[in-house]
Amino acid sequence: MREGSARSSLLRSVCLAAFVAALAVGASGCSKRAGAEKYEDTRLKMGTFVTVTLYGEDRERLKEVGNAVFEEIDRVSAVFNVYDEESEVSRLNRAAGGTVEVSETMAEMVERSIGISRATGGAFDVTVGPLVMLWRRARESGEKPSEAEIKKAMESVGYDKLNLPIKTNRVRFEVTGMSLDFGAIAKGYAVERAAEVVRASGVESGLINAGGDIRAVGAKPGDAPWALGIRDPRKRRSLLLEVYLKDAAVATSGDYEQYLEGEGERESHIIDPRTGHGTRKTISVTVIAPDAALADALATALSVLGPVEGLEVLEKSFPEADALIVTPDKRVVYSPDFRKHTKKQ
Ligand code: AMP
Ligand code: MG
Repeated sequence: MREGSARSSLLRSVCLAAFVAALAVGASGCSKRAGAEKYEDTRLKMGTFVTVTLYGEDRERLKEVGNAVFEEIDRVSAVFNVYDEESEVSRLNRAAGGTVEVSETMAEMVERSIGISRATGGAFDVTVGPLVMLWRRARESGEKPSEAEIKKAMESVGYDKLNLPIKTNRVRFEVTGMSLDFGAIAKGYAVERAAEVVRASGVESGLINAGGDIRAVGAKPGDAPWALGIRDPRKRRSLLLEVYLKDAAVATSGDYEQYLEGEGERESHIIDPRTGHGTRKTISVTVIAPDAALADALATALSVLGPVEGLEVLEKSFPEADALIVTPDKRVVYSPDFRKHTKKQ
């Protein structure tokens, strides 16, 4: 995180934790329940509050696993931190132009990201960096970019210009001015990797909640599903509904937290890479998927695509995922199977 923006990022995290979406519903602190010890800790990571909840028999062991989970989140998020000039993504972006040798973690993310870009027709696109920077500057100055500036940035955007030759860890940018931004997937990916740490440790029951990017490992003690409240994007204190998860992930994207308002119109921080403008088709999207990185990326992609195209893409390419979409006119649209997650299994 950029030094100078520490305060605003803290504020942003507080807002995020307050609005963003799903909260685990249940007891907090360390307690003995149904014969199980509970570990719970919340730390500020990736610009948001991350809460790790674990259940097991041995309190000391749970603490060790909890620490390892936070370490994994630190490791993964450091790779994709665009605010840190020394991070791998920043070094890759600076080296733009040639072929760059990257880490396994980066290669895996680039490969997955290109796959999701293809399947979403470019609605999700990690090469959106030049547009993200243009709009971020606009939010800071309060002045919208010109169409000429948007057009220029778009020349350096497009997943088809990002190359990762098969079975190599080498990334190549095909045009100048390109930059990668993993803001739409890195949090989910970090949460997914953290869930792998939990599973590998032998702990069978846990929840990792990174400000609305959530991964459930197994069920709660007694085989109960994790109950998660999805907040109403336009009524901060209300819940839209509750979902019940076992061994699955949920992510929410929305424009409620970062946007530029001018001439009565909002510009979301989620950009449609095909137009260069903030998305106008949704105000919030929640995706449930088997994997937190996929849930995160799809929540962003469907924010761009809107309910019609979005549900078509889910049906065709991601039948394992479900979505709830809130449109600007406040309609709530569900994928056909979403409702099954609102019933306690
Ligand atoms: P999320 O909150 O997961 O929807 O991610 C939003 C962040 O992802 C933005 O702040 C940008 O950094 C980046 N981003 C914006 N639009 C896109 C897009 N269409 N595809 C991929 N990343 C994007
Ligand atoms: Mg996302």
